[in-house]
Amino acid sequence: MSKNKLGLNTICAHIGEIKDEQFKGAISPIYLSTSYAFDNVDVKRYPRYFNTPNQEYLAKKIAALEHTEAALIFASGMAAISHMFLAFLKQGDHIVVQNTLYGGTSNFIREEFHKYGIEYTFTNGYAVSDFEAAMQPNTKVIHIETPSNPLLTITDLKAIADLAKSKDIISTIDNTFASPINQNPIDFGIDIVMHSATKYLGGHSDILAGTVASTQEHIDRIWNVSKNLGGSLSDMTVWMLERSMKTLALRVKAQTKNARKLAKFLEQHNDVSKVYYPGLKSHPEHQLAKRQMHGFGAMLSFELIEGIDAMRFLKQLNLIKPSMSLAGVESTMLLPSETSHALLSQEQRDAVGISNRLIRFSVGIETVKNLKYDIEQAIINTKTESFA
Ligand SMILES: *Cc1c(COP(=O)(O)O)cnc(C)c1O
Repeated sequence: MSKNKLGLNTICAHIGEIKDEQFKGAISPIYLSTSYAFDNVDVKRYPRYFNTPNQEYLAKKIAALEHTEAALIFASGMAAISHMFLAFLKQGDHIVVQNTLYGGTSNFIREEFHKYGIEYTFTNGYAVSDFEAAMQPNTKVIHIETPSNPLLTITDLKAIADLAKSKDIISTIDNTFASPINQNPIDFGIDIVMHSATKYLGGHSDILAGTVASTQEHIDRIWNVSKNLGGSLSDMTVWMLERSMKTLALRVKAQTKNARKLAKFLEQHNDVSKVYYPGLKSHPEHQLAKRQMHGFGAMLSFELIEGIDAMRFLKQLNLIKPSMSLAGVESTMLLPSETSHALLSQEQRDAVGISNRLIRFSVGIETVKNLKYDIEQAIINTKTESFA
């Protein structure tokens, strides 16, 4: 490699920028045109074809960050996932998906696949043997999520990629929780990487978007389906996403550092009974996470000891917002039992290890001592309130 190999922050700040040749402005101009010339041009551009200047150029940044040849930007994470699946699955095909899946993806599979005649199996666990056991002769895709939501389990990227290769099928991953800063699944042989860009890529809780990155060949195949389904993102938002992604590495690294400190703080806290974070030595897949992640991410989950009500605790927080979604620069907490897993019965939740006391923590960029203070005061006030 050359001595001037681009670092992460340089890629974030500069790859995929559109040079403003006309006015020499420092940032990419935004092109909102839905009508482009057709004669004597190398590309016939149209927003639904994913090839406006802003879409085409931002895709270069995403591809660079995920170490792929090409990428596409979608109107949501779910548009990215659904278009990706529909590009590789047809009637009579089968997909193996990890059991601990993002709720929307799970709903898409359970509610829509039967209409297309696509078969699916949710694994029993996240070990490679669980995926092997779920394979059928007509399996065409294996889809994983690691770290998973909300228990932060780690699936072995290389083992899954090898399994898919041995069967000559496609492996796909939802890399949203790690972000490209903390994990590059392509380097382990996974074929296609998707993100809900609503989360870390956007990072400010104000953009809904999705991305898919892979070889040019796979991306062309997805594009063929996507141009028909019409899930491209408006250029206004593409431009906002580009602006957000300039600070992606700075944000995610700061959030990851905070999360590690907070995980240790919570693990040592007398009023906390359990912490789920791949960066902790107590995490069952800590060594695996160390091998396949650059950093352990900024998502963690924990349980307060019995007797401290999780919902009351959330109401006592002053700085950390009890709110849905994740990955913004601001810290948020939620109860999976009341949100992502609310539709499951208590029994089903117990079976996957999601208790009513489980709190999911999306760690932001705030000064860590302020976050610790907020948690501490909320615990004390919840306890006082309970005994009053
Ligand atoms: C939010 C999320 C999605 C869905 O993304 P949208 O942008 O809401 O459509 C998919 N996977 C994971 C892991 C997510 O957190």
